[in-house]
Amino acid sequence: MIRTIFILFMMVVTASIVAGSEPDEREAAEAEAEAVTDNSEWAIALHGGAGVNSRDLPEETKQEYFDSLEEALRIGEKILKSGGEALDAVEQVVIYLEDNPLFNAGKGSVFTYEGKHELDAAIMDGSSLGAGALTGLTTVRNPITLARHVMENSRHIFFSGQGAERYADETAVERVENDWFFTERRYEQWKRAQQQDSSSGMIIDPESESYTFRYGTVGAAALDREGNLAAGTSTGGMTNKMYGRVGDVPIIGAGTYANDLAAISATGWGEQIMRNVSAHTIASYMEFTGSSLDDSIEFLLIERLDPGDAGFIAVDRDGNVSLKMNTEGMFRAGSNAAGFREVAIWD
Ligand code: ASP
Repeated sequence: MIRTIFILFMMVVTASIVAGSEPDEREAAEAEAEAVTDNSEWAIALHGGAGVNSRDLPEETKQEYFDSLEEALRIGEKILKSGGEALDAVEQVVIYLEDNPLFNAGKGSVFTYEGKHELDAAIMDGSSLGAGALTGLTTVRNPITLARHVMENSRHIFFSGQGAERYADETAVERVENDWFFTERRYEQWKRAQQQDSSSGMIIDPESESYTFRYGTVGAAALDREGNLAAGTSTGGMTNKMYGRVGDVPIIGAGTYANDLAAISATGWGEQIMRNVSAHTIASYMEFTGSSLDDSIEFLLIERLDPGDAGFIAVDRDGNVSLKMNTEGMFRAGSNAAGFREVAIWD
């Protein structure tokens, strides 16, 4: 009897402890959820290359670019608004742009001097300084996904050419034939570039028409609600590039960079972007001078680069978005939690 009374007593005590603790736990979970929703900024910026000078694009083509940029922006916004990771937003936006034949990355990549497609990509996680990069890919449909694989699963950062393809063999990333990247438009551009270049394929006259259509690259930078920054860039490189040429895109700190202050992706003349270690310089300028993201990018565009060289899209840890170039135009878009939203090509 005494035993039964004791058991009943213990059951009542236990029940009241559980009942008492439940609301506390619920409140804590609710508070945490609120903190994530309320407090946090998110921001996204993206580009589809600075390879556009002429405003005389046919209306229909212009509209196709705007629609594609809008769609890319929506993909990133959806992920970030619902609390997704900056890295996922960057990867998914870049995949969309890689698969879109309008842009010089993935499908629609430019031709090399030898008439092939060689793709470069990089991704970087600002919170860990983790990075993955590839150059000279010939059969990977979405280089950005392989770059993320390198970042997350390899003890190295940067793979090139045959080694990069071999690394891809060990993953499940989708493979295609090299001519899958072919588009008629890029083929015509390549033919024109071949006529204009010197026989070595090296000399580019900045005044020539070909100069303007050599560019094109896609990239994205994002800040998620947890405060993490990430950047990614993917490209076919420059039209008629020489055998083995590596551009700025996969070079961490040149065309792609992210830390806990800012995430940046570049487009434009890769050699110039590399010389100035551009993306890293922007982040360092912010850090060392306390300048804003906008001012830091302007420092690089005005003080370091020449007119016509490049464009940058970036976000910082406060959710500021910057889309700036010293070229005539840059396919670009960006938005943030504070209500900024822009999709643009020229000024
Ligand atoms: N920066 C790229 C490269 O030089 C090209 C581009 O952005 O258009 O490979």
